[in-house]
Amino acid sequence: MNINKKVSKKIFLSIIIFLLTIFILLFLLRLLNHRELDDVTPGIQCDKNLLDKANVLWVIPNFNNNQVSENKEWCNYILSLNKTIGMHGVTHEFQEFGTDKNQEYLDKGIKELEDCFGFKPEMFKPPQIKISKNNVDLIKNNNLELEEDINQMTHKVYHCSDSDRIKNWVIDLF
Ligand SMILES: [Zn+2]
Repeated sequence: MNINKKVSKKIFLSIIIFLLTIFILLFLLRLLNHRELDDVTPGIQCDKNLLDKANVLWVIPNFNNNQVSENKEWCNYILSLNKTIGMHGVTHEFQEFGTDKNQEYLDKGIKELEDCFGFKPEMFKPPQIKISKNNVDLIKNNNLELEEDINQMTHKVYHCSDSDRIKNWVIDLF
């Protein structure tokens, strides 16, 4: 084997080891971090075992004109689970926060959750993790902690009704 081949073999091996390390670290991080559940709302079926194993529930305030505040029984049930609750869009239209929204729009969602649970949300996760620059400012100006791609990557995030392209059983595995 000549020198060039030896060097390229070494580089190749280093890359493989590097990627494998990243993979294992990410696996461990996701395993140890808290679990989250997206798309929690009265209009979307959600298995009890998903609600149980998640630590953070991301609630859609007004999905398909199903305002959470109008379903007190549901609100009390979610409260009784004693989980951290975050705001997940307002209506959860496709890439809802990819287009600029105003204060009034955001307030509607915040009020829904406040009327439902008795407290204002402190965290926000945009649907499909899509958010425009102006909306980032809007969320931050409202003192909402914004969760984006890094959060989805470093936590096991399940979806009610298994609606995401990454299925819940895959999330369980990795
Ligand atoms: Zn969602």
